[in-house]
Amino acid sequence: MNISFDLDSTLIPNGKEFETEKRNRIAKLFGIEEIRKGTHELISDLQKQGHKIHIYTTSFRTKRKIRLTLKYYGIKVNRIVNQTENQNVLKSQNINSSKFPPAFGFDLHIDDLKGVGIESERFNFKVIIVKPSDKNWIEKIKNEIKNKRNQ
Ligand SMILES: [Mg+2]
Repeated sequence: MNISFDLDSTLIPNGKEFETEKRNRIAKLFGIEEIRKGTHELISDLQKQGHKIHIYTTSFRTKRKIRLTLKYYGIKVNRIVNQTENQNVLKSQNINSSKFPPAFGFDLHIDDLKGVGIESERFNFKVIIVKPSDKNWIEKIKNEIKNKRNQ
C-alpha cells in the first residue's frame, strides 16, 4: 500500500507533546527538527512489509527541509507533498477538503486531526487517526494496517 504520514503532531511534536528521538546540537543548528520516538523503526518495518511511505503535510516547509530532517534520522520516503503542492492539486481538481490522499495516489493516510477523520468519511478515503498522547501509536498503526489489508 501507499501510506502517507502527516507531520505536525503526528511525527513532529508541537512543543513537548510526545517523546522524541535523540538529536545533537549540530543537527539543531542545521534546522533538523525533532521527530517522534519510534518513527524510524515504524517506517522501516512498514517498508520491509512492502509498503511505500510518503509524507503528506499541510505545512509550507520545503520538501528539501523535510527530506533533510528525515535523512538525519535515517528515514527515506518516496514522495513528499507539502501545502504548496496540496493546494495546487486540490484546487485544480475542485476538491474542497484540507487533505485528499487519493489525489496523490495514497491508499491510507495517518494523521492526528479528527477533522481529517471527518473528511475521510465525506470524501471516502482511508485514514488512521493517532493522538499525540497515544503511547501505543506504533502498535495501533501496525494493527490497523493489517486489518485494512484484509478488508
Ligand atoms: Mg497534524
